[in-house]
Amino acid sequence: MEHKRINVFGLGTTNADVPSSALLGNKGANLAEMARQGLPVPPGFTLPTEVCRRVLAEGALPADVRDDVQQAVRELEAATGKRLGDPERPLLLAVRSGSRVSMPGILDTVLGVGMTDDVAAALAKASGNARFARDVHRRFLARYATVVMGIRTRIPGDQDPFHVQLDRFRTQRGLDDDEELSEADAAEVVNRFRTLIRGTLGADVPQDPHHQLTDAITAVFLGWRGPRATAFRRANHISDEEGTACTVQAMVFGTLPPGCSGVAITRHPNTGVRVLYGEYLPDAHGEDIVGGARTPCPLSESRGGRKPLKEAMPAVYEQLHAMCTRLEAHFKDVQEVEFTVQEGKLWLLQTRSSSRTARAAVKSAVDMAGEGLITQREALLRVDASRLDTLLVPQLSSTARKEVLAQGLPASPGVACGKVVFHAEEAEALKAKGLDVILVRTETSSDDVGGMRAASGILTARGGTTSHAAVVARAMGKCCVVGCSGIRVDYVKAEFVTTGGVHVRQGDVITLDGNTGDVLVGPVQTEVSSAVPELDTLLSWADQVRRLKVRSNSDTPQDAELARKLGAEGVGLCRTEHMFFEAARLRCMQELSLSTSSEGRRAAMARLLPMQRDDFLALFRTMAGAPITIRLLDLPLESFLPDSDRQRSELSAVTGLSLDEIRVRSDALRHSNPLLGHRGCRLAVTYPEIYEMQVRALLEAACQVHAEGISARPEIMLPMVVNGAEYASLRALVVRTAEKVFGEKGVKVPFLVGPLIELPRAALAADELAVQSDFFSLGTDDMTRMALGLSRDDMDSFLQAYLDQGLLRHDPFVVLDERGVGGLVRTAVDLGRGARAGLLVGICGEHGGEPESVAFFHRAGLDYVSCTALRVPVARLAAAQAAINAG
Ligand code: PEP
Ligand code: MG
Repeated sequence: MEHKRINVFGLGTTNADVPSSALLGNKGANLAEMARQGLPVPPGFTLPTEVCRRVLAEGALPADVRDDVQQAVRELEAATGKRLGDPERPLLLAVRSGSRVSMPGILDTVLGVGMTDDVAAALAKASGNARFARDVHRRFLARYATVVMGIRTRIPGDQDPFHVQLDRFRTQRGLDDDEELSEADAAEVVNRFRTLIRGTLGADVPQDPHHQLTDAITAVFLGWRGPRATAFRRANHISDEEGTACTVQAMVFGTLPPGCSGVAITRHPNTGVRVLYGEYLPDAHGEDIVGGARTPCPLSESRGGRKPLKEAMPAVYEQLHAMCTRLEAHFKDVQEVEFTVQEGKLWLLQTRSSSRTARAAVKSAVDMAGEGLITQREALLRVDASRLDTLLVPQLSSTARKEVLAQGLPASPGVACGKVVFHAEEAEALKAKGLDVILVRTETSSDDVGGMRAASGILTARGGTTSHAAVVARAMGKCCVVGCSGIRVDYVKAEFVTTGGVHVRQGDVITLDGNTGDVLVGPVQTEVSSAVPELDTLLSWADQVRRLKVRSNSDTPQDAELARKLGAEGVGLCRTEHMFFEAARLRCMQELSLSTSSEGRRAAMARLLPMQRDDFLALFRTMAGAPITIRLLDLPLESFLPDSDRQRSELSAVTGLSLDEIRVRSDALRHSNPLLGHRGCRLAVTYPEIYEMQVRALLEAACQVHAEGISARPEIMLPMVVNGAEYASLRALVVRTAEKVFGEKGVKVPFLVGPLIELPRAALAADELAVQSDFFSLGTDDMTRMALGLSRDDMDSFLQAYLDQGLLRHDPFVVLDERGVGGLVRTAVDLGRGARAGLLVGICGEHGGEPESVAFFHRAGLDYVSCTALRVPVARLAAAQAAINAG
């Protein structure tokens, strides 16, 4: 019979429609599809997600759905020749949840529904295996009392009371393993479980199988609203409205010999190599594999003296192998298949796309395209672009022993190990002695940049993945963990203390895992993931498809070199202030900042000029003709001045200025909010010497490499531009300086001038800038700050609450706020290109390396995105995915 609301499968009828996972959940749809393909799945039926929404609204299974369930059960009984509650041939059911996106281990399952005292006795008799029947009975009682009757809410603590009972019983009997339970033992365990349930809940598990089924289905649906499922949905951006489906299926038992339960994966989940990978447990239920109490055996090759399935049950193995190959070919993706063998017969219980490491994802996608299973375009869409950067940096060795001290946010990938220091100067001093250090700060500021450069890794107690520490570390390609709220930094005692009470002192060795956010005790062995040759293939396919160009945010020649190797087509942002934190340059910037006369500033800049010119020379040579966007100084001058009295005394000794003079000048430069005010190109309105020096340095360098036969292509960028008049005046300064340099050198090199559009006003009035611009670069970091009134350095105190309560979908500094900030981006592009057709427009905010944002920039018609070097492959793939998805 046709069921409107219920989808039956494996009952001998073939459903013409391809099952939909939005309706039937991933599990239900794939089971139905496997049945359609004639594969051996235990028969059953699926209640669609729509029923979940009704159950959540009404608090119970609606009457019409109950009728449908009764009807489907009758069909199942007819097909299996068994009946629910029948003492001769009892039908037992598995009631499983399954939403569109698989949520492993999150939603509830009730196994053995239909079990009553009479049925247990009948099952013992029919199977000739009383121990088996008792075992099924006790598992059913435990699951039913937990999922349906909510026994855990009545018992304090987070231990499973049934596990506790079973462990206690085994200890009393001196048994190690469940298999050693005799039939009498198994019967006793059933009795103890019954007593526990009655004692705690004042009620028994109902003896009516139909009542059990209705309540189990209802409980599975209501589980969608449970705390675990809600937290999972928030973390994975799954809408509350989707709901779960519920599949009811005839039980099969891996405990009826010869029997086993297992999981098979069609390609190795860590490497992507094509082998039938997986595990099985003889004489076991599927849940025993996940439970971890017994060590499973491998499928294909013997491991640790354990016999693989291939040898233990060769015929079954061959069948399984053939079916898995078929499933992979059908679903065109690596499959993870759950199976059970009952009395020698193989059953498939579930198939889904397997989870895999980034490495395995790349290899299997490229291999499957090579095998003709999928197209190159499909291969490009198969890989999660955001995880590619983890392939390029060292990883912790998978076999290493790890002791986790605390956990923060993985801000910049890689692994770093070294002695703990708390101050930037100490980091530089120890580094100079050849030691590896980890700089630990509550949070970092521009004062710390020199120390950050010297450190192998950076750890902060506060801040999110776009905080100062995170942004600077990524730009340096340095391992960094931020927002580690489980530590408190005490600068006075030179130690940090974990919430667990562990004191880590200056000089102690720790390891940071920038791939996971773990902070670990002592040194931990690392391994560089060996190159993945398939990555180059995949990225070459991406390059053929993408329209967006990809540049890098690189401040040093070394970083630009790395970016180039990873496929950067230019530098989209060179933050020149990052060139100023090395000691000799910092001194020049301090003298500039302290000087109150134009002559004093000129003298300081004259000393900085050759150093800055050398920086640019190296950068031009490295990028050999590729475009380089150089942003003139952006940071407020106060950032170059010391903030402690000790540092001020040092500066006083060097400059000959009194401590008071230094204090007065520092106070004059102080900002109430360092994000706004006297920074960016406004500095050059009052102190033009800085930009004059920078433009001279970069153009002198360009002329010099020109003589070497390298065509430098500088794009000079003015930060924090606010209006046309301001921009015109500073552009004139650039052009004037350029003419002077070219006159002196007797040679002209091409260069572009453009604004960094980061203020909302600049975006809203972009046409007045465009008429006098050669390019636009969009600074979406500051644009986010200004548009949302947020600072990326202090959001950690409330961001999590916003995410938990669903008030924000993402950290807006990570994934672009498309509606708001994206609106400013579109306005800037439209007004800019309206005033100047074909204007070159790129983006250099951190969003340039985030796939969802890259897709938006593609749709908004930008020419390029620019991101940190390690994210260049991410952006290349994301840009290709955006082009494919846009059709
Ligand atoms: C920006 O604001 O987007 C930008 C690129 O500048 P920074 O991140 O250096 O503030
Ligand atoms: Mg900015």
